[in-house]
Amino acid sequence: MNDCIFCKIAAGEIPCTSVFEDERALAFRDINPQAPVHVLVIPRKHYKNLTALDASDHDLMRHLLHVANVVAIEEGIAMDGYRVAVNCGLQGGQVVQHVHFHVLGGRQLSGELG
Ligand code: AMP
Repeated sequence: MNDCIFCKIAAGEIPCTSVFEDERALAFRDINPQAPVHVLVIPRKHYKNLTALDASDHDLMRHLLHVANVVAIEEGIAMDGYRVAVNCGLQGGQVVQHVHFHVLGGRQLSGELG
């Protein structure tokens, strides 16, 4: 996707602070962190949002969740607890149109998701 900022990050055209990468996924620090640890996990391949993934993408979805778990462990937030969140579409609050998992932790998160 030519105009996708996260595709550009995945391609190395826009810098990021990477914390994990492999052939399918990338994890990097959010530019506007909402918690002491705020990492975004993205697939290298472009998908507009969670709804754009289907049954043929189950392995990738599992992998992204696994990467979120690895990031939480490596960032030292797994023991105290953390949140993985996906905003999807307009009412879901999605701003960047490339599916991404937020990994948030390092402080007490509120029970309110909205
Ligand atoms: P969402 O609202 O779920 O689409 O979240 C998009 C997230 O991407 C926000 O938390 C932004 O702070 C973050 N973001 C946008 N541009 C960048 C960037 N260049 N590097 C890192 N994070 C970014």
